[in-house]
Amino acid sequence: MKRDFAALGQHHFDLLVCGGGIYGAWTAYDAALRGLNVALIEQADWAGATSSASSKLIHGGLRYLENYDFKLVRKSLRERTMLLQVAPHRVWPLRFGIPVYATHRFNRLQLKLGLTAYDFLASDADPAMHHQYHNPDQFTQHFPFVTTAMLKGGFTYADAQTDDARLVLELVDGAQQAGACCVNYCQLLSLQDNSPELHSIAVQDRISLATQTIYARQIVFTTGQGLADSEPSRDWCQLSKGVHLVMPTAMHDEALLLTAPADGRVFFMIPWYGMTLLGTTDTDFDADTQPIRIESRDIDYLLEAANAYLKHRWTRGDVIGSFAGIRVFKRPAQTPSTVSPSALSRDWELKSATPSVHYAIGGKITSAREDASHIVDTVCQQLGLSTPCATNGRSFPWAPRDNFTSWSMTMSAQAQQLGIDTECTKWALRRHGDRISGLFDRIATDASLAQRIVPSLPFIRAELVHCAATEMVVHLDDLLRRRLPLLILTRLSHDQLQRIALSVTHATGWDSARQLQEVDRCAKLWNIR
Ligand SMILES: Cc1cc2nc3c(=O)[nH]c(=O)nc-3n(C[C@H](O)[C@H](O)[C@H](O)COP(=O)(O)OP(=O)(O)OC[C@H]3O[C@@H](n4cnc5c(N)ncnc54)[C@H](O)[C@@H]3O)c2cc1C
Repeated sequence: MKRDFAALGQHHFDLLVCGGGIYGAWTAYDAALRGLNVALIEQADWAGATSSASSKLIHGGLRYLENYDFKLVRKSLRERTMLLQVAPHRVWPLRFGIPVYATHRFNRLQLKLGLTAYDFLASDADPAMHHQYHNPDQFTQHFPFVTTAMLKGGFTYADAQTDDARLVLELVDGAQQAGACCVNYCQLLSLQDNSPELHSIAVQDRISLATQTIYARQIVFTTGQGLADSEPSRDWCQLSKGVHLVMPTAMHDEALLLTAPADGRVFFMIPWYGMTLLGTTDTDFDADTQPIRIESRDIDYLLEAANAYLKHRWTRGDVIGSFAGIRVFKRPAQTPSTVSPSALSRDWELKSATPSVHYAIGGKITSAREDASHIVDTVCQQLGLSTPCATNGRSFPWAPRDNFTSWSMTMSAQAQQLGIDTECTKWALRRHGDRISGLFDRIATDASLAQRIVPSLPFIRAELVHCAATEMVVHLDDLLRRRLPLLILTRLSHDQLQRIALSVTHATGWDSARQLQEVDRCAKLWNIR
């Protein structure tokens, strides 16, 4: 993946997509596959905002059944089924447990009804994706760390999981391969005129601070929370903040869906790269509050919620990392800003200010592909084209061409010969898909690259070099937060940052002054001493 800011000025684009989260990535990818001349710009790093701060679930959203949001659940489950097929490296099944306690907000019958409806809406023929009931002993075998006092049994059901930042990156790469001009650290400053045929748009390179004008016939704003900062989109959205804590290993292959005793809200404990994601909070967020802060009360809320279920309580000292993201909701027409965030629909809408300027409001990572296909349909219609959606059922850009299981076995055997441990191999296959051969090539010339970066996490040194060299890394924190989520999954020291920056100098071309700058920037952003 190559970054080329100058190339933006060399074309008249059919479509400019502003915002490189999941919505921008799917929109640019679909439009480029349909033959449109597309530019995708992102003011920071790909997935630098909410699209790397999600719960990383590809799910129907069991809890939305409570709000009778059947349409959204069905749509999301359809996407889940498809993504599991077309992106087996990027989206993998994950089973969830729901304990039933005598004092629980949901009783066994309610859960049975909800899960039966969920399976029905998914219409998945695979029995491995259907729910099951477990008596207390069986449930405890699945989740031995969960408290058994008043436990009456529990259910397990299937959903799916991903690495959100890498999902976005793979789609941006797909868009670039399909001909789109994709530039990160490029900010849209203003629309300079409003000619209905061709917009001129001022953009700035956030690295050199150079500005230039680019031209596009259609513009789509997939700017997430940025929609709340500007007219006319400000009036269409409502924001909420969601915090996750990264906690020590609790479970390996199964997650938990639980309800917080304080307010009855659903929250999750999810295994991810060997650690546990605990989240999320869901509190009103004011667009003028910057930066997004994780407050003491967010941490207390999540720890208290989890500790209600754990045999061994977690304390603040157990918190390894944290991250926060902003959800954008369509603002309800009737009752602006008085509705609690948890009760607002997660569904998505496209609003158009003019026939050539569009805004994507709300949504989910899970359903972003389908939503983006409607964006591109609208754009095509305005351009007088009738090309159909190109992403439905299409294999992912980095999906192996062979059967996934046999491909995984062949790659695992090669990885073992190269000295990569089994856990690192499992995750590397998911993270890199068929690009894993790039890692193998590097290890073949330097065996030390098969070693873990830090002992507690399943990432190897070859990934640092490979991602730095090929995945449009601009800053050190792009590499350590999104190409690899090290900064949230462990506490890196200043020394470690320095060593990592040094180890990728060949790949990045950073001289010693730039290395220092990058280490300083990363240390400041992540409060590392
Ligand atoms: C806590 C939390 C948990 C969630 N969990 C899940 C989940 O498990 N599963 C699921 O399906 N969904 C989940 N969601 C929802 C999902 O994460 C969001 O719907 C999705 O990430 C929104 O993507 P986006 O592309 O619209 O916005 P973003 O990811 O925020 O992207 C918008 C981008 O636009 C860029 N931008 C803004 N202004 C400009 C400008 N002027 N020029 C250039 N670029 C600009 C920003 O830098 C940003 O990167 C969760 C959301 C939250 C908050």
